[in-house]
Amino acid sequence: MLLNKLTDMQYDETPLVLADIPVPEPGPGEVQVEISTCAVCHTELDEIEGRTPPPRLPVVPGHQAVGRVSALGPGATRLRVGDRVGVAWIYSACGQCEYCRAGEENLCPEFRATGRDVDGGYAEYMTVPEQFAYPIPECFSDLQAAPLLCAGAIGYRSLHLTGLQDCQCLGLTGFGASAHLVLPMVRRRFPGSSVSVFARSEKERAFARELGAVWAGDTTDSAPEPLHCIIDTTPAWTPVVEALRNLRPGGRLVINAIRKQESDKAVLQQLDYPQHLWLEKEIKSVANVARRDVTDFLQLAAEIPLLPEVQPYPLEEANRALSELKRGNVRGAKVLQIR
Ligand SMILES: [Zn+2]
Ligand SMILES: [Zn+2]
Repeated sequence: MLLNKLTDMQYDETPLVLADIPVPEPGPGEVQVEISTCAVCHTELDEIEGRTPPPRLPVVPGHQAVGRVSALGPGATRLRVGDRVGVAWIYSACGQCEYCRAGEENLCPEFRATGRDVDGGYAEYMTVPEQFAYPIPECFSDLQAAPLLCAGAIGYRSLHLTGLQDCQCLGLTGFGASAHLVLPMVRRRFPGSSVSVFARSEKERAFARELGAVWAGDTTDSAPEPLHCIIDTTPAWTPVVEALRNLRPGGRLVINAIRKQESDKAVLQQLDYPQHLWLEKEIKSVANVARRDVTDFLQLAAEIPLLPEVQPYPLEEANRALSELKRGNVRGAKVLQIR
């Protein structure tokens, strides 16, 4: 499925076009992957609608691909043909800069994103540097593994960046693909911690309670007690202001969003320094994922085990999956089933 031009999905519900393209050949240090599944992510909407536009078009979107290695490029020695692997948002980084050397290759100036800067997983085949392909634990099916690769891995990174300690209170604002995977991670890693969830729809709130949230309310409600840290996974600004209000002194808000929408930006004018920021409250954003996030998270997910709810779609119905994602109110993760 090719993205040929940027568009607004509110008016154009078929941004992607089914096309026959040559099977990509793996270059030095790369492997070719015969793709089985690829999950659908909100970031694809950001790409299609130009908030994080691909540098060249056409491009094959998709950055949560699972499949089997089908060919090795020259010098690729880490994997074998037939190995089941996943490919995540981070496609490659320079390997030499201060960030790469520190294992923070997600911040590398030469960071390339799968399905944006290079062709991704809405296809039958792709290639990837072998260092950026991850073995998938046995316990997951191809359908279950795909949404773990982005939503799960970035949820894991967000949780790590909160600095949450056991018995502290965590808040989640927004309860989509990433947040619903964070809740079971918290229960496993921080069994004494409580999780409060802010979400606009009652359906999402009910789902949060079902997964063990101690409290679930609307975006503008107040949590039963002030929170040590909050992860925001929404595309909007109102939840940011509301989250800051719900933090306790010294608390940290981690914003897990690649881009924010402009529509409610005016609400930032309501930011009141004593109420929202004073007393050493912090704001930190999350950018991309490092390889370590993906490998550590897959291991944790297998331990739990964290089996995401999935909704499969055939590859050629990627546009329908994206439109439904844009309209919101989704439970679980949308996954394209390619073979
Ligand atoms: Zn994603
Ligand atoms: Zn680098």
